[in-house]
Amino acid sequence: MNEFIYVGRPQRVVFGQGSLRHLQREIDALGARKALVLSTSRPRAEEVASLLGERAAGIFDQAVMHVPLETARAARETARRLGADCAVAIGGGSTIGLGKAIALDSGLPILAIPTTYSGSEMTSIYGLTDAGVKKTGRDDRVLPRTVIYDPAVTMSLPPTMSVTSGINAIAHAAEGLYSATTNPILDLMAQEGIAALGRALPAIVAGERLADARADALYGAWLCGTVLAGVDMALHHKLCHTLGGTFNLPHAETHTVVLPHALAYNAPAAARGLQRIAAALGKDDAPQALFDLARDNGAPVALKDLGMRREDLAKACDLAMQNVYPNPRPLEREPLMQLLADAFEGNRPG
Ligand code: NAD
Repeated sequence: MNEFIYVGRPQRVVFGQGSLRHLQREIDALGARKALVLSTSRPRAEEVASLLGERAAGIFDQAVMHVPLETARAARETARRLGADCAVAIGGGSTIGLGKAIALDSGLPILAIPTTYSGSEMTSIYGLTDAGVKKTGRDDRVLPRTVIYDPAVTMSLPPTMSVTSGINAIAHAAEGLYSATTNPILDLMAQEGIAALGRALPAIVAGERLADARADALYGAWLCGTVLAGVDMALHHKLCHTLGGTFNLPHAETHTVVLPHALAYNAPAAARGLQRIAAALGKDDAPQALFDLARDNGAPVALKDLGMRREDLAKACDLAMQNVYPNPRPLEREPLMQLLADAFEGNRPG
């Protein structure tokens, strides 16, 4: 076995159907008294505030994608004005991202209740958008101290969004499996996470064994998010960051479309990683299995259907080539343009 470094992060995870009922106990365990509830949805925030009872300091329901600096400032100011000594973020990556932005400056502890499979709750990666430019960074202060994974709060996530969000999670584990900085512990989590989501997503779409499928998907998202937290990501994540940031494409959908093609690009240089992804999905070919997982379950497979313009592909390629980052296969312009063209058209990977 090669040498490796594994970093365990100090988080408390409470998992299970109906586990949201433990919210007050978990606020006490944080040593906090008054929580500001963060959300994109007023009714959702009010539900949580009523569970908190007198431990609710108030609600901030203005979370939006990519955490604009002014939103982060407004949320911090609300927390200060209401005397909150912690924040409860209930929502997807956008709401949890807002919690992280508050924690970055104030050190306020965050309790996250994920309602999608983005995996943000497991990472110390934050993003902030100032004047249209999104900056990301890592800081242990933003890592949510407690995460409550309650499958019940994901039941309302529409099936197609569940598939795209689930494939967003799979992308973290897939790139983890061929990352130069991975280790055997995270590899186990990556394979288990992909397998759980690979089982759960078709069941969610079919409406079968829904409670079990939702629990499986959330468990998979947890594991995949832990992989994202622990290893360097590569071409796939960089491409999606560029496509989302520069061309304003939707986050989970873009991951869903690009992943099979990014894996096909890396396949010649990452055979072992790709075999493990395929095995976790119970298939022979990882890029094709992920393409089919999306297409057969009603998710988009073409960038042209997400609002990308054909004439912007060359610019996207240039931007992806400009950044320097580790990737199993060197970045070459012509094959990268082919990757983007295939993703644009929605071709099944070779
Ligand atoms: P999101 O949080 O933007 O949510 C998408 C939409 O789904 C929103 O309208 C939201 O209100 C709705 N929604 C969420 N949960 C729902 C539910 N259970 N039922 C019904 N509707 C629901 O989307 P996301 O994909 O979870 O997060 C994307 C953002 O997270 C991006 O900005 C991305 O960069 C960031 N992200 C960060 C990390 C990290 O480690 N820092 C990791 C992954 C994603």
